[in-house]
Amino acid sequence: MVARLLEGRPVADAIWRDLTPRAAAFADRAGRPPCLGLVSGTDEAAAAYGRQIERQFGRHGLAVTTRAASAQDMLEVIGGLSRDDAADGVLLLTPLPAGVDLTQAVLAIDPARDVDGQHPTNLGRLAQRRPVFVPATALGGLRLLQHYGMAVRGARAVVVGRSPVVGMPLALLLIDADATVSVCHSRTDDLAAVTRTADILCVAVGRAHLIGSEHVKPGSVVLDFGTNPGPDGTVLGDVDTDAVASLVEAITPVPGGTGPTTVAALAEQTVLAAELLQVRARA
Ligand code: NAP
Repeated sequence: MVARLLEGRPVADAIWRDLTPRAAAFADRAGRPPCLGLVSGTDEAAAAYGRQIERQFGRHGLAVTTRAASAQDMLEVIGGLSRDDAADGVLLLTPLPAGVDLTQAVLAIDPARDVDGQHPTNLGRLAQRRPVFVPATALGGLRLLQHYGMAVRGARAVVVGRSPVVGMPLALLLIDADATVSVCHSRTDDLAAVTRTADILCVAVGRAHLIGSEHVKPGSVVLDFGTNPGPDGTVLGDVDTDAVASLVEAITPVPGGTGPTTVAALAEQTVLAAELLQVRARA
């Protein structure tokens, strides 16, 4: 068996295809496109991600407004954007400047504009199985499985990683989609024994090639969220694709798998926020 590659680009394209008419309809009603507010510190990689979001949003009829913030005025800037009628979503570009407490910064986001699902209100809703806004990378992973017709209901899923941005929300999304889910982390005893039970294995750790042939169940589906620096500027996933390719049914490539779906999922939630805020304003 040679694993099928689950490319992210077609998934992102399908999300954008659904979204573009919704964004245009919102713009007709509101007199402006749906708009994401970015809060940016000084980190160059974070700023580059912001520019990538701006380019893709612009191409599909969504707007982005960027506010620079220092450690001193961070909470004020986030609060201001959260009260700004011209911004439907708020996203913090991380890492934030040194000295800013990420938990406090997230609390300053209006939950109704929290399009990356980081506010405790939104993570709580997800845990209660009534999600509104969820972390975009995790949502992108679910969209990948749905797009390629991978059976989630009743499947045994294992998520490696429990961060609030990827692993934990993905586990909750999979539970909501009726998978039976185990979550592994750095204290998991005998990782391979758990991961080998997975029909769907999702890995979000940040350790190049942590997962090898001994970790996978033959015929399984693998989502690799890892982006690790490799030699000569390459990017390596958390899964050793060459080692598992003859065993698994399908796997996301790195790069080009879970990456492209993240910005599209962020746009999906920005349009949703714009629509919900408009309904609220009219009520
Ligand atoms: P993170 O906050 O550092 O979390 C890493 C998780 O992996 C933690 O839960 C940690 O366990 C667990 N872990 C560490 N070593 C482990 C080991 N040896 N065995 C099992 N679990 C282990 O990282 P993150 O923000 O979730 O990101 C994870 C990866 O996804 C990174 O490569 C990041 O670049 C990538 N990422 C990709 C996207 C995308 O768009 N595709 C978006 C965001 C992140 P503990 O909780 O016990 O410490």
